[in-house]
Amino acid sequence: YALQTGDNTYVFYEKEIKENYFNNLKLETELRSALEKNELSLVYQPQVQVGTRAIFASEALLRWHNGNLGQISPDQFIPVAESTELIIPIGNWVLEEAIKQNKKWLDRTNKKNVVAVNLSPIQFKKSDLPQIIETLLKKYEMPAELLEVEITEGILVENMEGARSQLEKIKALGVKVAIDDFGTGYSSLKYLRNFNFDRLKIDREFIKDYPANDNGKIAKAILNLAKQMDLKVIAEGVETIEQFEFMKENGCDEVQGYYFHKPLSVDDFEKLITEKVSEKISGKED
Ligand code: C2E
Ligand code: MG
Ligand code: MG
Ligand code: MG
Repeated sequence: YALQTGDNTYVFYEKEIKENYFNNLKLETELRSALEKNELSLVYQPQVQVGTRAIFASEALLRWHNGNLGQISPDQFIPVAESTELIIPIGNWVLEEAIKQNKKWLDRTNKKNVVAVNLSPIQFKKSDLPQIIETLLKKYEMPAELLEVEITEGILVENMEGARSQLEKIKALGVKVAIDDFGTGYSSLKYLRNFNFDRLKIDREFIKDYPANDNGKIAKAILNLAKQMDLKVIAEGVETIEQFEFMKENGCDEVQGYYFHKPLSVDDFEKLITEKVSEKISGKED
C-alpha cells in the first residue's frame, strides 16, 4: 500500500514516527521529575476469594498525574520508564510505598492482607533487588508473607538460570511470587515446571468478552493445568456475574476485577477492609 500511494504515505508514516518520538521524549522529560514532584501515587485493587468473597489481598497499581500532561496511564509511561531505566527509582518507590502502606493497614485494622507489587523485567534483573526488598521489609517491620511480587513470563525467557536464582533469593525472604498476565507470553508450560510460583494470574485477555467467544476454553485449560501443578489461580479482569460464575465453576480460587472492585484509593481500601466488608460483599446480588 505504501508503494502504491508513494510519497504521501511515506510522509505520513514519517510524521507518525516523529510524533511518537516527540511524545515519548516529552513523557521522558516529565517522568524524570515525577518522583521529586510527588506526582506518582498508588491505587489498590482488592483481590477476592471465590468461595467466601472475602478480600485477602490487593494489587498496587501505579498512577501518574502530571501538571502539563494530565493523567497518564501506566500502559503509556511504564514502557518509557523502562527504556530509560527510570523504572529503577520508580520501581523502588512503588515497593517502598506499598510495603509502608500495607504495614499501616496491618497496624490500623489488624487484618492480614497481602499486597502485590508489579516488577518490571528491568527491575527484576538487578542483582540488588532481593537486598532492597529485604531492607524495606525490615525498615517497616512488614511481615514478608504479606508481600507478593508479580512478574511476567518475559522475565523468564531471556536468562532462565539468572531468573531462577533471583526468584529463589526473593522467595527465601518469605515473599510470595505470582506469574502475571499468564498465557500472553511464550512457552508458558515449561516455566510452570521450572519455577516455584505461589500464584498464577490468568490474563484478562482470556476472560474479557466471555461468554461471547471461545476464550472460556483457554481459561478452562489454564485452570486445569494449574490445578495439576498445585498452583493457586487468580483471574484478573472479571467484570460480570457470568464471568465470576464461570471462574467459580471451573475451580478458580480468586478473582480481581471490576465486578467486585475497581482500583481504590488508600482511604477507600481501608474503609472496605474495616467497617463495611461483610455488608458490601453480601450486598452484591447474584
Ligand atoms: P497488570 O499488572 O496486569 O494489572 C491489571 C490491570 O488491569 C490494571 O490496569 C487494572 O486496573 C486493570 N483491571 C483490573 N480489573 C479490571 C477489569 O475488570 N476490567 C478492566 N478493563 N481492567 C481491569 P492499570 O492499572 O492500567 O495497569 C496496567 C499495567 O501497567 C499493569 O497490568 C502492569 O503491567 C503495569 N503497571 C501498573 N503499575 C505498575 C507498577 O507499579 N510497576 C510496573 N512495573 N508496572 C505496573
Ligand atoms: Mg499485575
Ligand atoms: Mg496482570
Ligand atoms: Mg494484564
